Amino acid sequence: MRKVFVDLHNHSCLSPCGEDDMMPALVAGLHKLAGVDVAALTDHNTTRNCPAFFEAAGAYGLSPLAGMELTTAEDIHVICLFLTPEEAAAFEEEVYKRRVLIPNRVDIFGNQFIVDANDCVIGEEPYYLVNATTLTLEEAYDLATRMGGVCYPAHIDRPANGLIAVLGDFPEHPKYRFAEFNDPANIPAYREKYSRLRDMKVIYGSDAHRPDAVPTDAVFSIEVEEDGTPAEAVFRYLKGG
Ligand SMILES: [Zn+2]
Ligand SMILES: [Zn+2]
Repeated sequence: MRKVFVDLHNHSCLSPCGEDDMMPALVAGLHKLAGVDVAALTDHNTTRNCPAFFEAAGAYGLSPLAGMELTTAEDIHVICLFLTPEEAAAFEEEVYKRRVLIPNRVDIFGNQFIVDANDCVIGEEPYYLVNATTLTLEEAYDLATRMGGVCYPAHIDRPANGLIAVLGDFPEHPKYRFAEFNDPANIPAYREKYSRLRDMKVIYGSDAHRPDAVPTDAVFSIEVEEDGTPAEAVFRYLKGG
């Protein structure tokens, strides 16, 4: 077994709420400097900055995962992770069919820049990315797992778009194996209060939307198998294989 530091929830300049200088290459570089081994890029309802994130991570020696923070029909945020940007892109194609397309108001919500690994803007998403899709919690879980990914609720310790805040308790279905905490210090109290969390594994995501929100020291580690890259080992751990 090996110990790996993870941060599996980060936004880039493609998320309207992500700052414009959150270039995927910067996100990768900041995590490498902090001592994180495996980081995921998880923009709202899109994965299109994952290729740039992977290219930069490769150059910096960071092990990357490709992901999306999907907004379900219940307005709950769930993290969907994939091993490669290609698999993530195939998932996004399916999610796109279930998005409610509202033109982005840059003056209100912010820019949605698609960039390359050299920080060059190569496109812009025209429709607001954060609003609810028509995928229910169950459908989102089924779609992500059917397409080879993992899916679990994001920042369950936060009031905005957190599963517990929206539903009042942790549901029996979908059969999540993991729950994400934004602050690892909250884990014991939540486990005490919500019985379904007691046997559930937890994972950490900083949910960084700006450079200074990326922790300067890695804060959360897990023990994973030795085989493969750190990202592959973390992915297997999340999948339960
Ligand atoms: Zn969120
Ligand atoms: Zn987020």
